[in-house]
This record gives sequence, structure tokens and C-alpha cells, in this order.
Amino acid sequence: QLALARAEDLILEIPDYPSEGIIFRDITPLIADGDALRATVDAMIAPFAGQFDVVAGLEARGFLFASAAAYTSGAGLMPVRKAGKLPRPAVTVEYSLEYGSAVIEAHGDFPRGTRVLILDDVLATGGTLAAAHDLMEQLGYEVAGTAVLFEIEGLGGREALGDHELHTVFTS
Ligand code: IMP
Repeated sequence: QLALARAEDLILEIPDYPSEGIIFRDITPLIADGDALRATVDAMIAPFAGQFDVVAGLEARGFLFASAAAYTSGAGLMPVRKAGKLPRPAVTVEYSLEYGSAVIEAHGDFPRGTRVLILDDVLATGGTLAAAHDLMEQLGYEVAGTAVLFEIEGLGGREALGDHELHTVFTS
């Protein structure tokens, strides 16, 4: 618990990045600390113990947590990638951003009904994770849950995820 409390202090608030008026949460000091990283990964997956077969991580910072979570729980790992990075045919979901749109993709390498825990670093408007849910459903997988390290409150992220279970370790 000490490590988890320290982990929260290791998330930096960077004003006006990547553009004016945005406060960017920088998690690199947290993952630089071994005890904080381990405590954080453990806290992200704890509510879902025994309930998932595969951990899906959102490119790019979601990979950091998903890979550690998969390793520690003995689950497989599914990279959910941005457009155009996968070598084989993939299922694609397009979603809107504040300016323009984005695409995420994954290969359908797991059997239908595979239980997937979706992980990312930060929840803001929820667009990215909502698209990830959509992608898992299109692939025929069952979403076991969603967890993020940090939830920025007041941007509607939780609402965007609807009925899907969301677990957050820290909130703004
Ligand atoms: P959303 O789709 O608006 O919820 O934005 C979440 C996505 O943008 C995640 O994949 C995050 O990695 C990234 N993101 C948004 N805000 C931040 C931040 O303050 N720090 C780090 N990543 C962020």
C-alpha cells in the first residue's frame, strides 16, 4: 500500500501539453520506480483475478501495463494497434477524436468467447476504450473488464463506457 500511495505522487501534471489548456498526466516517473510499477499493475488487475484469459493493451502506453499484467497472471497478450501496423488482415474500428478520427485494429487470433481484460494508462473522454470494447465485440470476444491507471474525471469517460465495468486505480 505504501508503494501504491507513492505511485500516485509519481504521476506528473504537465500543463499545456500537447496543446494549450490541456493538463497531460505523465506516467513515466511511476513506471521508472520498480515498486510503484509492480503495485500499480497488481492494483489494476486485482478485481478481475481468475476472470480473464487474455490481456489487451492499447497502443502505446497501454502495452506497458498489459504486458506486465499478462506476465504476472499467466495470461496471453493482445496488442490493440493503431492503423496500419499489423501484418495480417485485422478487424478495424474507427472512432472520433476532438479533431478528426482514429483507427484501432487487432488480429482475431483467439477463439470466440475468449475473456479479455482491456488495459490502458489514462481514461480521458473514453473514446479509445469504447472503441476497444467495440473491437472486442466484433472479434467475438467477451470483455471481462476494463482497467486504467488514471481516470481524468469530468470528461465523460466513464459515461462513454456505458455498462462496461471500469476499474481505475487513481482518479483526478
Ligand atoms: P480518450 O480516448 O479521450 O479517453 O483518451 C485516452 C487515450 O489518450 C489513452 O490511450 C491515453 O494513453 C491517451 N491520453 C489522453 N490523455 C492523456 C494524459 O493526460 N496522459 C497520458 N495519456 C493520455
